[in-house]
Amino acid sequence: MRHIDLSDPGHVGFLAADHDGFRAHIRGLLDGLVRPHADDWESERGISRSGWRSLGEAGLLSLEHSGPGFLRSAIFLEELGGLGYGGIRASVAVHAYMAASYLHLFGSEAQRQRYLPGVRQGRLIAALALTESEAGSDLRELSTRADPTENGYRVTGEKLYVANGSRADFLVTLATTRTAQRSNGLTGASLLVIDAGTPGVSRHPEPMLGWHSADVSRVRFTDVDVPADRLVGRRDRALQHLVHALDFERLVAGMLAVGGVRHCLDLLHAFVREHRVKGVPLGTHQAVRHRIADLESSYELVRHYGYRAAWLQANGRLDTRTASVLKLRATELAVTAAQTCLQFHGARGYAADAVAARLYRDAMAGPIAAGASELLRDLVYETT
Ligand SMILES: Cc1cc2nc3c(=O)[nH]c(=O)nc-3n(C[C@H](O)[C@H](O)[C@H](O)COP(=O)(O)OP(=O)(O)OC[C@H]3O[C@@H](n4cnc5c(N)ncnc54)[C@H](O)[C@@H]3O)c2cc1C
Repeated sequence: MRHIDLSDPGHVGFLAADHDGFRAHIRGLLDGLVRPHADDWESERGISRSGWRSLGEAGLLSLEHSGPGFLRSAIFLEELGGLGYGGIRASVAVHAYMAASYLHLFGSEAQRQRYLPGVRQGRLIAALALTESEAGSDLRELSTRADPTENGYRVTGEKLYVANGSRADFLVTLATTRTAQRSNGLTGASLLVIDAGTPGVSRHPEPMLGWHSADVSRVRFTDVDVPADRLVGRRDRALQHLVHALDFERLVAGMLAVGGVRHCLDLLHAFVREHRVKGVPLGTHQAVRHRIADLESSYELVRHYGYRAAWLQANGRLDTRTASVLKLRATELAVTAAQTCLQFHGARGYAADAVAARLYRDAMAGPIAAGASELLRDLVYETT
């Protein structure tokens, strides 16, 4: 079985020698703080409050979003993905990276002071509420409204598939603030940070095929009064903010998927070495070896590309094309890897409680969430 060689400082080119010690440190923390609880969080459909706190205390929710330190985040995301629980990794990534990035990038000083210390400590859980029934890949179809009032905004609408949705303390929410007739594009949309305890906010868990510990929920806003100082960034200019933040989101999703592929391949290697068919280990059969070799070679390419994307982010140069290529290729490779893993496990992999089955269910969300593959292919084509 091929493990990442921690003694090889140049294994992906973009990392320095001291990153290996950091990776080992992260692995140790995740092994101690997440792995023993992961199955419970899956069955409870969310990370426990104490789980969030311990992640925060260990410093795992306060790694860098930009600058040279982002490479440490990339390692963390890869290792988090490598645990093999799609729901846990999505939950943590939405909290510490995707939702939090809007406050980091566009929030006022007061908003950062109010929310980010709690996010880093695991005291406040964050969610990102963009998607609606008619506004997924095309956010221009947004219908959640934030109508201006004397003191701020009154928000009405429904958001779907919100990870951390029923347990979040606050939601970074996309809503239309335009008062005039519909205009083209997302002009007239704004981002608001809404405290989940505000009257009029109701949440309903929406169990998904996989990602069980991600607490995916429907969130309804019924005449929710939001103070004016909760506007994140510029009013009516959410599009400009989203363009930047969605590239970051795709990079994060891509690195998680890279880790997920490694986990899946390690499971597969272990199985085909042990399981015997026709009197020999399954991995002796050439058909099996070649399938795994194809996956391994794709994994090497995608992983290397992932660190290239992370390096661009660390240097303030991440672009839509790079982020899209990574997310597209990494999440689709994760599906192929999970499907192959299940196939070679035979019926035992198809049992509802089999690890291979969970990996497959989790992997299937990757090419949909945070930008469907078809949308990403459009973006890659358009930036060619
Ligand atoms: C497990 C999970 C967690 C999620 N978490 C969150 C969250 O925390 N916050 C949040 O706001 N949203 C979340 N989402 C929603 C996610 O971002 C959307 O599912 C995604 O943007 C796609 O939107 P949609 O599902 O409405 O699909 P639609 O936009 O309705 O598209 C349906 C399908 O059409 C195809 N398609 C889309 N665009 C094109 C195109 N240009 N050309 C050809 N075919 C196309 C794709 O196959 C796509 O899957 C989550 C989704 C999942 C599955």
